[in-house]
Amino acid sequence: MKIEVDLDLCQGHGMCEMEAPDLFEAERESVKLLDSQPDSSHLADVERAVRYCPTQALRIVEE
Ligand code: SF4
Repeated sequence: MKIEVDLDLCQGHGMCEMEAPDLFEAERESVKLLDSQPDSSHLADVERAVRYCPTQALRIVEE
């Protein structure tokens, strides 16, 4: 799995960091991906981050 962030949409709300703090670090107006290719053990956390991102800036790309 690969995570993609559209930084034009991201506003740094930090919902993703709450769902998966090992993978996302919300900054003032954007997010830093700490691991863009996490293993499948993170799938449920990443799916919640994608679902709850208020600007729909996140997506999962299957590899
Ligand atoms: S939840 Fe969405 S808008 Fe907020 S920091 Fe994460 S990616 Fe950006």
